[in-house]
Amino acid sequence: MYRKIWVDINLRAFSENLKKIRKFVGNSVKIAAVLKQSAYGHGLIPVARKLYQEGVNYFGVGSINEAIQLREDGYRGKILLLSVVSKELAPFFIRFGITPTVVEEDFARELNRQAEKIKQVIPVHVKVDTGMGRLGFYPDQIHSFVEKLKNLNFISLEGIYTHFPVADTNFSFTQQQLKIFQDLIKKLKEKHIDFKYYHSANSLGVVNYPNSYLNMVRPGLILYGVKSHQDLKIELEPVLSFKAKIIFIKEVPQGRTVGYGADFVAKSNRRIATVSVGYADGYPWALSNKSKVLIKGKLFNIAGRVCMDHIMVDLGNDKEIKKEDTVTLIGKEKDKKIMAEDLAAWAQTIPYEIVTCISKKIPRRYINT
Ligand SMILES: *Cc1c(COP(=O)(O)O)cnc(C)c1O
Repeated sequence: MYRKIWVDINLRAFSENLKKIRKFVGNSVKIAAVLKQSAYGHGLIPVARKLYQEGVNYFGVGSINEAIQLREDGYRGKILLLSVVSKELAPFFIRFGITPTVVEEDFARELNRQAEKIKQVIPVHVKVDTGMGRLGFYPDQIHSFVEKLKNLNFISLEGIYTHFPVADTNFSFTQQQLKIFQDLIKKLKEKHIDFKYYHSANSLGVVNYPNSYLNMVRPGLILYGVKSHQDLKIELEPVLSFKAKIIFIKEVPQGRTVGYGADFVAKSNRRIATVSVGYADGYPWALSNKSKVLIKGKLFNIAGRVCMDHIMVDLGNDKEIKKEDTVTLIGKEKDKKIMAEDLAAWAQTIPYEIVTCISKKIPRRYINT
């Protein structure tokens, strides 16, 4: 370890969070665990292995690369790509048994052509835009699209799904989306078009919209023990802790400044620690002069701006803190904790960005495997 900085991943927390999710959705609803962006920064393979051990055999990924990594690790369960790629990549879905999201006829035809070559039917999921304004056709355009897919003999319609943009802030908009989606499902059924899986719920759907479960849910953030919203009514166990060390301590006299911009001025003589984490590690620059850290179970403010490789911490007159002490940037110490949610609030961003932007070069240590 050339720099004293690391991430601890407490795998046992996944068991707890899954238990909570299963309690919400019940046993008849399939859980498709979302693992995109390297399992939200937690590390794709160790997380996938743990979830598989816990009985999850349906994963949502964000790239073909992630899907191939799972296959190369020996995973044999289902993988749904939650995004779309150009049709040149169609052969990969067949070769690696990856289920695509289909939103274009052109892609579907190419997939069908490739599947026909080896006489193997490939399952697909169709995405419907009920309000996200991203991937997929609007509901009234779906009928003709699905009819076209039905005529392709080497494609099978495994799933149809939609996504919520405002499940946290607009209950009636989300309910309206669900109604549109359910009406569409009903109309397709009348035309004898049935899918194995119908899904819409992300984490917020799981916690706040029981009527969004249908027969599959796609939780991401809550699996990792993080809440997108302060008052989300679910008890979760955070999976990730983010740590660094004090690499230097100095006495800073009253009136001296600390850091770029010289905007931290010592109000009195104090000890200032330099810590081995910076914005290039994924500790946002926006935390400058704002965040707190935990050392030996005590909270301290950072002093001045976040640097590329360093932050400075105001120890005040605390004499107990020493060079080499561990600094918790995210995590628990004794009765105190700093959550990804806290960093997000201080940096005025969302917790998703905090966990997924912790640099991939920082070593992850897997504990309670
Ligand atoms: C990322 C993603 C999810 C998971 O969202 P969370 O808010 O993390 O639960 C679900 N569905 C789709 C299509 C996604 O892209």
